[in-house]
Amino acid sequence: MNDKLSNPQKTIEIIKKYDFAFQKKYGQNFLIDAHVLDKIIAAADVGPEDFVLEIGPGIGTMTQYLAEHAREVAAVEIDTHLIPILEDTLQDYDNVTIINEDILKLDMNALAQEKNQGRPIKVVANLPYYITTPIIMGLFESGVPVENITVMVQKEVADRMQVGPGTKDYGALSLAVQYYAEPYLVANVPPNCFMPRPKVGSAVIRLTRHKEKPVQVKDENFMFRLIRASFNQRRKTLQNGLNNCAELAVTKAQVVEALEKMGLPATVRGEKLTLEQFAQLSDLLS
Ligand code: SAM
Repeated sequence: MNDKLSNPQKTIEIIKKYDFAFQKKYGQNFLIDAHVLDKIIAAADVGPEDFVLEIGPGIGTMTQYLAEHAREVAAVEIDTHLIPILEDTLQDYDNVTIINEDILKLDMNALAQEKNQGRPIKVVANLPYYITTPIIMGLFESGVPVENITVMVQKEVADRMQVGPGTKDYGALSLAVQYYAEPYLVANVPPNCFMPRPKVGSAVIRLTRHKEKPVQVKDENFMFRLIRASFNQRRKTLQNGLNNCAELAVTKAQVVEALEKMGLPATVRGEKLTLEQFAQLSDLLS
């Protein structure tokens, strides 16, 4: 019999053995499909040289796969009830460190330094959906050396990460992800691949960090404030939306002048601008 946790029977056995109660607040939907796990490991290109950071190992299903392919794995899990389970399910692997911590509070730079001497790491996760955006933005913005991030996210979020201007899903997340990385959709994953089944569809997406940013901008921070302000009031034209934003301190006249210099109509909305155009607008206004 297959003793791996990707075998649903084994997962049920462990859940029962520890009388584990799934916590909705932590987004606990465990993977029970070996094909999906194979696809994730292949897409992340995990090999014997690699140090991998896994966010939210659950009962260790993906961790077992990672441990078999990587040099070393650190698995960061917030739920204290899962720690004794992980110690049990991962006992055969001496290259895994379990860290009982909230990923949003962990010093990931220090971890990358300690475990990989500051060289780029790989991040793999079936993410807790309630904090997908802060986790991904945290990885990019904190300057953690990252080669790629291969994650299971809500299907709708995967769509938002990949689209360009003029589509309904285009927004601040699309621009932020595309500024830092090249997104690639690995697979769509239906609810029956998880226990318990989530109410939404899921997708695996790989974000390969750009070696060189696709656009140059004078003040990155200002550009992202500008982008957020543009999409906070999505239905407004830029001249009205940005003028209303206290954080930016720009006037309507300044916005109109900048748009004119860029050859854009004064009535344009943020959803029509490319990343290059946001960078240009940021340089003109900052
Ligand atoms: N990797 C496992 C799998 O694929 O079966 C579990 C994935 S489950 C969708 C998300 C996991 O993230 C859960 O184990 C949950 O407890 C954990 N988690 C939720 N919030 C977290 C946080 N802030 N920091 C670390 N882990 C977290």
